[in-house]
Amino acid sequence: MKTLIANFKMNMTPTQTKDYLITFLSRVDSEKLDLTLCLPYTSLFIGDFWCADKNIRLGAQNLSDEEEGRNTGEISGAMLKDSGVDYVIVGHSERRKRFKEDGKSINRKIKIGLKNGLGLILCVGESLAERNTLKTYEVLKEQIESALKGLYENELERIIIAYEPVWAVGSGKTPSPKEIEEAVKEIKKVVCDDFSLGASESIRIVYGGSVDSKNIKQLNSCKNINGFLIGQACLDPNEFLKICSLVR
Ligand code: PEP
Repeated sequence: MKTLIANFKMNMTPTQTKDYLITFLSRVDSEKLDLTLCLPYTSLFIGDFWCADKNIRLGAQNLSDEEEGRNTGEISGAMLKDSGVDYVIVGHSERRKRFKEDGKSINRKIKIGLKNGLGLILCVGESLAERNTLKTYEVLKEQIESALKGLYENELERIIIAYEPVWAVGSGKTPSPKEIEEAVKEIKKVVCDDFSLGASESIRIVYGGSVDSKNIKQLNSCKNINGFLIGQACLDPNEFLKICSLVR
């Protein structure tokens, strides 16, 4: 069963989310997909209400790297769990760049997420300059090793790695299936070296970056990915429904 993760980013008020979900949920065949909707914090209560009993997981887009206390404006792992959240995105390239999130902070977020019973979607990926100077493997290795430092192998069951080349996110450009497969091999090599062969075989890896209904069939030909993380294209329920029907 393919995994599809929708990242709504900073889009949709709670009212707009409700309207979206009414359209989307009336037509999606959620039994045939492993579907997670990562909504803005302010829409989580709407998602929790409308997605209950629908075989759809509720996701958030970030969590604090502190457990609680004097962190005005932050949202904790415990708050997310109590809001019905199952998965949370960490290490998204927009946050690495805009908010200077580094490996240490991402590692703390992952540990706090795990402690609170959440699953984590860890985004990793190289910039165009890094790809052009043949640094992709080095970048992926550093991002994965710093994020997963100190984790037990059995905790990887609750981690999904999203390979999201920075140059593909929101750009309309995508790597070829061959390039994705190469990056996935490199990700698995890091997991194999740091954990075990078994862990590298079972870790779930999705691709993200400008996925839409036109390129999904070609991207879906990659054999070693478990699914996709989708940003812009999930904002139109009809486009997202098309992707859901093509990906199975
Ligand atoms: C994302 O934000 O993780 C993403 C994949 O966005 P887009 O699909 O718009 O490139």
